[in-house]
Amino acid sequence: MNTSHDEIRALLVLAAAGVLEPVEQRRVDEHAAVCEECSAELAALASLARGIRSLSTPVIPQGLAARTQARLRARQGAAREERVSGAIVLFLALFAWTITLLPLLVSGVLGNTLVLWGVGLGDPLVLLGGSTLLAWLTGGVTVLVLMRRPRREWRVS
Ligand SMILES: [Zn+2]
Repeated sequence: MNTSHDEIRALLVLAAAGVLEPVEQRRVDEHAAVCEECSAELAALASLARGIRSLSTPVIPQGLAARTQARLRARQGAAREERVSGAIVLFLALFAWTITLLPLLVSGVLGNTLVLWGVGLGDPLVLLGGSTLLAWLTGGVTVLVLMRRPRREWRVS
């Protein structure tokens, strides 16, 4: 087999598809005219290409693109809403920790010197009761904030 035959064989698929430059197409045709093997291969590939071209093109259902975009928007909106809710919960948890630990820090710094209405604020029972009350309040506020937050329906219309 010579170099020309191998080069032409590499171009046969493109020639059958009709995508070669005119100069290359002429080279393939000239070689196929004298080479039985390449001629047979070209004929088979051309037949295959005609068969593929004759297949019907799939019909895309009407509104598919619009429905897909709507679905993507809905998914993105739901994900964004979830992130915001997560950030609110995180903020409120940090806030709860802060206000729970604040009395302990205050009593640690000031000792039992803070007295309000005759009750020493450094008293462990007062600290425990105060912390519990603040934690409950924060939990309630968290629930109220998350419940009252306007929720959008992320549905595909
Ligand atoms: Zn050949």
